[in-house]
Amino acid sequence: MTQSTAFSIAPGGWLGLLGGGQLGRMFCHAAQSLGYKVAVLDPAEECPAGMVADLHIRAAYDDEAGLARLAQQCRAVTTEFENVPADSLRALAARCRVSPAADAVAVVQDRIAEKTFIAAQGIPVAPHAAIRGEADLRAAPANLFPGILKVARMGYDGKGQARIATREEALAAYAEFGGVPCVLEALMPLDYEISVVLARGFDGASVVFPVARNVHRDGILAVSTASAAGQDAAHAERQARATAAAQSIAQGLGYHGVLCVEFFVLKDGSLIVNEIAPRPHNSGHYTMDACLTSQFEQQARAMAGLPLGGVDLLAPAVMLNILGDIWYESADTDAQREPDWAGALSTPTAKLHLYGKREARRGRKMGHVTIVALTLAQAQADAARVAAALGMQAPE
Ligand code: ATP
Ligand code: MG
Repeated sequence: MTQSTAFSIAPGGWLGLLGGGQLGRMFCHAAQSLGYKVAVLDPAEECPAGMVADLHIRAAYDDEAGLARLAQQCRAVTTEFENVPADSLRALAARCRVSPAADAVAVVQDRIAEKTFIAAQGIPVAPHAAIRGEADLRAAPANLFPGILKVARMGYDGKGQARIATREEALAAYAEFGGVPCVLEALMPLDYEISVVLARGFDGASVVFPVARNVHRDGILAVSTASAAGQDAAHAERQARATAAAQSIAQGLGYHGVLCVEFFVLKDGSLIVNEIAPRPHNSGHYTMDACLTSQFEQQARAMAGLPLGGVDLLAPAVMLNILGDIWYESADTDAQREPDWAGALSTPTAKLHLYGKREARRGRKMGHVTIVALTLAQAQADAARVAAALGMQAPE
């Protein structure tokens, strides 16, 4: 028997997941289609992954009995979000295989530790300062203004962030955040944003998905595009550098599972890392419809100790996030209606994914739609039609 066979969990076995959001839901679907059963631990009575899991353990992420139940049921456990207490992952690791490991998650769930780690790998990050008190803000170098103050822990989708023009504004934002540890980083002149999703197995072998190009609106991902077409040499070279950087980050973290690295491409062509997500990522949702193996299937394969799947892009793809905003009749009313799904799906290249969330709220991620076509131009034209049918801003 080879080592990888000895280490693997056969389909039919149980895989465990901390967190019950949409990423967990899509993980459940992928793992189940490989034949696994999935147990989800999430405190919510009802949640996107809990609805489709084979077992939903309703418990807090630090609940000893809940964690013990999960470890008893499952031989391998992963997480769908970075804010799970690292100590819970440590406790689970005493009883079952955990990926990613607590130590890797501990680094990326704290922006101060994360930036320090990335810079120590020799990979550039935005100029920044750790803010642990008002005195740090008063002493922060002038090149960090204008900047963005970000809470060190628990931020997502642009929450816990404030754009500040001056030191005074930074002090006010810091007080508003309750004086919790923060990172102040300089506002960078972005040309565009890209991300790299990779999967790394327990044997150290890794596969890297094609680079996605991302557009954010109001701090939330809006559009991801993956295509081999229309790339000049400079862009291709940047993609190669981003891919290499993501691989060295995964290696440096001793990482197992799926990881995403978000990058900024600056106006001068240089590349810096924004942040790391220790899990499948919104910018990798296009892989579900446009790649041979989705990022969620890779997560299941990695934790089960199976070989990773092919990551080839089968066709150009444009992913549009569906936020709760499109349920509202207009920007200045609370009245809601059902979006025109039939209108969106009258474009045959559109693949719709909804997360089963009962309540639509502005800024809440409700689903996404991926348009996969033979050419990038066709995918973009079709994406514009789908966006119009759903009352969404045209994709840039
Ligand atoms: P997510 O959960 O979507 O990853 P987040 O809350 O972790 O978001 P960031 O990734 O730090 O937030 O920032 C969100 C977006 O804000 C970035 O993708 C980028 O568009 C913009 N942004 C963040 N930091 C900077 C910066 N230093 N300079 C310019 N733009 C920035
Ligand atoms: Mg981000």
